[in-house]
Amino acid sequence: MLKGKSAIVTGSTSGIGLGIAHVLASHGANIVINGFGDATAIEVERASIEKTHGVKCVYSPADMSKPEQIREMVKLAETSFGAADILVNNAGIQFTARTEDFPEDKWDAIISINLASAFHAMKAILPGMQKRGFGRIINIASAHGLVGSPEKIAYVAAKHGIVGMTKVVALENATANITCNAICPGWVLTPLVQKQIEDRAAKEGITAEVAAKEMLSEKQPSLRFATPEQMGAAVVFLCSDAGSSITGVSLPIDGGWTAQ
Ligand code: NAD
Repeated sequence: MLKGKSAIVTGSTSGIGLGIAHVLASHGANIVINGFGDATAIEVERASIEKTHGVKCVYSPADMSKPEQIREMVKLAETSFGAADILVNNAGIQFTARTEDFPEDKWDAIISINLASAFHAMKAILPGMQKRGFGRIINIASAHGLVGSPEKIAYVAAKHGIVGMTKVVALENATANITCNAICPGWVLTPLVQKQIEDRAAKEGITAEVAAKEMLSEKQPSLRFATPEQMGAAVVFLCSDAGSSITGVSLPIDGGWTAQ
């Protein structure tokens, strides 16, 4: 369905981004993966995307807190594949503390990686999309783009910001065959959430399994983690013809979290 298209997925060396990259590639898109990690492990993932799905995949080491490197990543997609058709702004980090204790450097890092990076990537990619008359932008927000939780001031601010930016870019490009939507996952079992499970287990003196169950029962009525593959399937739908009239929305995939 996406044969001949190319997609940039930021923060795709792990978790949700890696899952989305695989699902997009399985529908024929060439991929730019991005993110941190061990160089050998990243090369294994890059080669596995090419081999498993029969597409081209290149790696961009761009740091999402550095606008110049974000622009380089967009150029890499355009020079490698002739175009950058799909952008998935997914890179993100987490830190938890009460507002009065929240370290300022953590605030700055979360706002820069989880929020400002999406602005810089969209600013860099939109002129090419407008020239070619096609673009699909999917911003990975969160249930925390729609509701709050204690001890997550920077994350909740960034994700609410992502939901707002998504609407603006959707409106500005509504007649240009460029859509911009947000996906709002609930709990997905990735390294980002694993750390929160382990922190909670250590704090409460319980096992990680019990901590995970508590976290689900507090927030996610399905009592099941959502999966990176489910996020990938939603991204593919938003990139398809069937999704071409959907723009400016924020789609919760959260097992009922934000229905409460
Ligand atoms: P993860 O920790 O598994 O993956 C994060 C990815 O971002 C990694 O590839 C990492 O290398 C990359 N990254 C971090 N800092 C970066 C930087 N400065 N430059 C480039 N890449 C960087 O986390 P995840 O759970 O897969 O999260 C992915 C996205 O989904 C995040 O935006 C997160 O907020 C969002 N999200 C996750 C959940 C969840 O339950 N896991 C829920 C809602 C939203």
